[in-house]
Order: sequence, then C-alpha cells, then structure tokens
Amino acid sequence: MISLGLESTAHSFSIGIITEKGKVLANVTDMYKPPQGWGIEPMKAAQHHKKVAKEVLKKALKEARLQLKDIDIVSFSQGPGLAPCLHVGLNLAKELALKYNKPLMGVYHLIAHIEIGKLFTKTKDPIVTFTSGANTQILGFTEGRYRCFGETMDIGIGNALDKFGRETGMEFPAGPRIENLAKGGSYLELPYVVKGMDLSFSGIITDALQKFKKGEKLEDLCFSLQETLFAMLTEVTERALAHTGKSEVLLTGGVAANSRLQDMLRIMCRERKAKFAAVPREFAGDCGANIAWTGILACKSGRKPLNPAKADILPRQRTDEVEVAWL
Ligand code: AMP
Ligand code: MG
Repeated sequence: MISLGLESTAHSFSIGIITEKGKVLANVTDMYKPPQGWGIEPMKAAQHHKKVAKEVLKKALKEARLQLKDIDIVSFSQGPGLAPCLHVGLNLAKELALKYNKPLMGVYHLIAHIEIGKLFTKTKDPIVTFTSGANTQILGFTEGRYRCFGETMDIGIGNALDKFGRETGMEFPAGPRIENLAKGGSYLELPYVVKGMDLSFSGIITDALQKFKKGEKLEDLCFSLQETLFAMLTEVTERALAHTGKSEVLLTGGVAANSRLQDMLRIMCRERKAKFAAVPREFAGDCGANIAWTGILACKSGRKPLNPAKADILPRQRTDEVEVAWL
C-alpha cells in the first residue's frame, strides 16, 4: 500500500509519499514566509498554498518515481489548523481521489506528528511532548485515545518563540535562530508559569520583550527563554510520566528540532530510567509524510474512507476527541 499525504494546516504546503512499511519515497515542502515583522495571515498563506500545490505534487511524484495511478490512498490533513489553508489541501485531495478513484482518508494533524515520531523512534506507548507552532500538549494513550495531561492555556510554544523573534527583527520561523543565539547567552530571570499541568507562554514573551526594549542583550534573552520555556515543558512531562507509570517520552512537532529541549528531556528521562526519543529533524515540523503515514494506519485499522463529495475540514477538533483504532 502506498499513501500520498497532503499537509496544509498553516505555514507549509507539503506532499509526502510513504509505503506501508514506513519507507518515505518523497517529502516535498514549500513554506509560506510572511514579510518580516508580520505573523501568518491565513488568507495569504492559503494563496501561497494554492499557487504552489500542483508544483509540489509534481516534485513529490518525481522524487518517488511514481505516477498518480500507482498511489493506493490519498490522505489529507483535515485539521486542526487555519481554515483557508486546510481548504487548499482538502480540495486537491478530493480532486485526486475522484479523478483517480482512490480512497480518501482524513487525518488528524496532531496525531500525525505523534505517529511519524513513533515510526522512526520505535517508541511504543510514550508520553508525548508535542511542541509545534500553534499547539503544545503533553499527551499519552489510554483507552482508545490520546489523552491530554497538560497543555498551553494561550499560544503554542513555537508561536511564542516566533512572536519574540518577530518583535526583535528575526525572520520567520524564529526558533532555529533563537537556538543559535542562545548559545552565546547567559541567564536572566523570566516568569515561570506552570499551573497544575498547564502552561502559559504569552506573559513570558511580553516580559522578555520588555527587557529587550530596556536594552538587555538578545543572546541573554534567547538563552533565558529557552531555559525557562523548556524547563516548564520538562516539568509537566515528568509529572505525566510519573502519574501514568509509562516508561518512554517522545518529543515531536516543529520545536522538537531544538537540541536544548531534547537535552533537558533526555536528562530528566535518564534520571527516571525512562527512554527518551525525538522525532528525526526532517519530520519534526508539518510535512506530508506525517499525514501519508497516518493515512496508512487509519486505512489498515479498517476506518472507512471519506466520501469525496461530502468530505470537509475539521479546523477545531481536539486530540482527545479522535478515536484511534490502530492501537
Ligand atoms: P510546526 O508547526 O510543527 O511545523 O512547527 C513550526 C515551529 O517550530 C515554528 O514555530 C518554528 O519556530 C519552530 N522551530 C523550528 N525549528 C526550531 C528550533 N530549532 N528550535 C525551536 N523552535 C523551532
Ligand atoms: Mg503541526
């Protein structure tokens, strides 16, 4: 079985092609980059996705050395995400499914970040530290669903880093640049906001920006932001691990590419004698391969394909509302 997956929840339009054994045949991404100083405007990102969609498809098929007739299932990211962007993926997926008479699988995007991580790290039943642009959740599987043990009460950690970057003159996405600058910084105190199992990032960003305006060094602020935000995530992950008695942690989502975050979680896991694994960097952020793989899992679990005439996006669905039949 070969699955083609379309990803278009936010900044990236991406198409991946993967086999039933988990061999990635193609993974082509075109990222929308807003002008410097701006955040992602959903309509502008959707226009970008529409413009590049057919070209990305062509490149992915070429990379995989396949034609559309060789594809067995068409998977697409159904949500959550920015509605105008999700529509671009939905429309192309429907078009392909109808034209080539292929089953159409709707994939819940956050679970795709988890499943690709499990595929490549061979983790079986981990606590998942899910850190992407728009979402931050600590999850674990029990009784048919990924349950959310803790999450952000305001913005996602990636968006928090990007906002700090935007206001201090960095290009989107700011995460990698912050990671680099942090290497030359030292610690300044910032607020630390964990409430029960939940986290809050936006006030910390406001505080860091105020310190920036008062002349504190950018390197020091980048270092302190990483230390603070990642320690908060590590604390909640550790408590989820202790509470559930699970013995693995999987770090996934775009911010999983960060070495300092990986190190903190690795140290915590070592102390608890748990296994730590991070999703490979190339599959950490939004990409079609994640969607294609989760489409295969859904299809093999017996989930019925969607009717292309009726299929729609699910921009606001939550992780713990999704039935996971393949575990
Ligand atoms: P996603 O929404 O899962 O595609 O993740 C995108 C987010 O990951 C953006 O907010 C990026 O700034 C962030 N990101 C990417 N690489 C890094 C990194 N090395 N350190 C921190 N954040 C990162
Ligand atoms: Mg994502």
